[in-house]
Amino acid sequence: MTVFDVVLANGRILDGCGNPWFWGDLGIRRGRIAEIAPVGALEGAENIDVGGRYVAPGFVDVHTHSDLSILVNRLAESVVRQGVTTEVIGNCGMSPAPVNEDHLAEMQHHWGRISTHPEVSWKWRTFAQYLRTLRHGGLAINVASLAGHGALRIAVMGFADRDPAPEELARMEGLLTEAMESGAFGMSTGLVYPPGCFASTEEIVSLCRTVARYGGLYASHIRGERETILEAVAEAIDVGREACLPVQISHNAPKYGAPCDASANLSLVEQARVRGQDVTVDNDLHTDLGVSLVDTLPQSVHERETDEMVSLLRDPEYRLQTRQEIVLDRWPAFGPAGLLKHGQWDRITVLRAPRSDGVVGKTIGAIARERGTDPFDVYFDLLAVNGDDAEAIFDYIDQANIRMLLQHPAVMICSDGQVLAPYGFLNDPPPYSPCSYGEFPGVLERYVREEPVLSLQEAIRKMTSFPAQRFGLRDRGVLRPGAWADIVVFDLEHIRDRATNLYPHTYPFENYPHRYPEGIDHVFVNGVLVVDGQRHTGALPGQVLRRRGVRSGRRPLHEAMQ
Ligand SMILES: [Zn+2]
Repeated sequence: MTVFDVVLANGRILDGCGNPWFWGDLGIRRGRIAEIAPVGALEGAENIDVGGRYVAPGFVDVHTHSDLSILVNRLAESVVRQGVTTEVIGNCGMSPAPVNEDHLAEMQHHWGRISTHPEVSWKWRTFAQYLRTLRHGGLAINVASLAGHGALRIAVMGFADRDPAPEELARMEGLLTEAMESGAFGMSTGLVYPPGCFASTEEIVSLCRTVARYGGLYASHIRGERETILEAVAEAIDVGREACLPVQISHNAPKYGAPCDASANLSLVEQARVRGQDVTVDNDLHTDLGVSLVDTLPQSVHERETDEMVSLLRDPEYRLQTRQEIVLDRWPAFGPAGLLKHGQWDRITVLRAPRSDGVVGKTIGAIARERGTDPFDVYFDLLAVNGDDAEAIFDYIDQANIRMLLQHPAVMICSDGQVLAPYGFLNDPPPYSPCSYGEFPGVLERYVREEPVLSLQEAIRKMTSFPAQRFGLRDRGVLRPGAWADIVVFDLEHIRDRATNLYPHTYPFENYPHRYPEGIDHVFVNGVLVVDGQRHTGALPGQVLRRRGVRSGRRPLHEAMQ
């Protein structure tokens, strides 16, 4: 008689709770972990001898932007190949739902090119309908979602740069209630992006009160991660205190232009925790970001169509005005814009400019020196000639801050990436997104194996049980009988991230276009094998997760202490 569907035999078991590994066999039955026993004790219908490799809970990535790309690639290729089995989507204020017909075109414009893919039907209107669309075609991984504040705002008032009228705020609250009742885990904001940057603290507090009633959390891309980082962290903490709910500060590494290192923002988090406030942080390990040059321009430019922006940028008067706006930074813009503001042109490396010759692989600074022109003009020329197709790698984070964040007890590991694939629509042209392919293997390779920043069990805990606990995923992120069998088997000696390009960059780029990591041997999602060595099995066993329907009753202690 066979008791188990699958047995992973002869493994070094890392339970995800921060404990050192132990030798064991792990038995899976009907999607769940049924038994963990000494080596040689278990027998299954299928037995996989893992030969002493590590067996850990599948990674839980709390900060991703796969909302639409997972509809295009339900195999979740770049993600599941890293060992990730659950993703939280709807971050930085942007979820694809709710949608109001009257503002649909603005939503589509906001999401950009992916909006045009046939699998992105935009037929959903409510949050529940979007979750149904996600579930309908099957997913290789589990997905939990946040309601994006930007989406709520667009649905009610488009990109208007003003406060909502009381009636508009009430409509936003109504849409948020629908999202929470449908299973959203909380609300996210993106306070550097339009329309989030137009919202006052009071507006966010008011919406977060609705989230708090459902026991959800507030996840924030704060109002500036450079010059204003400390005020912005303080604002996120204030929102949590006023609305009485847990706060998750997203990808909180100080970006170039910040007045401090990470110890300063982390100490605000520590102080809040001492006062009894539930505040945690996530961060990824990359110091760079590959984005379109357009994205670093002031928010006022974003609403324009590309053709209009391109022709405006040919006008010296408009250039001067845009340049002044960048330096002034009135609504603190997206992190990489700090490199323009502070003239850090050697930290901007051109990745793609199909209509300009001889610029790819060079920094804006180097091109300006070569041509004897002003770097701002080089930048605007690239935009004027290439429009949206001009992309660069922005190296805007200090490695020392990444290490400090990784080691802090309130910080968990996220990717800030999304589902991509090295083929098809999502790879045409190949985006620069090392975190989408190499985040978790990269941490294990560089910050566990090569440099002892984290112990193996601590790194695994920050990728598994800590994020799972944060989002109330009670049966995931740990290896114990009864938990869902989300499992990754890996070889620490051979783990290798094939997507990261360390700064300063060499050209041709070392790991771009990106490849899948090496050393991830098996990935199971809900007990089903999805990654088998170099092969994706094609299985779609993932679930759309919903926040448990527990409404909060009593107020947490910190409110009573005020
Ligand atoms: Zn963000």
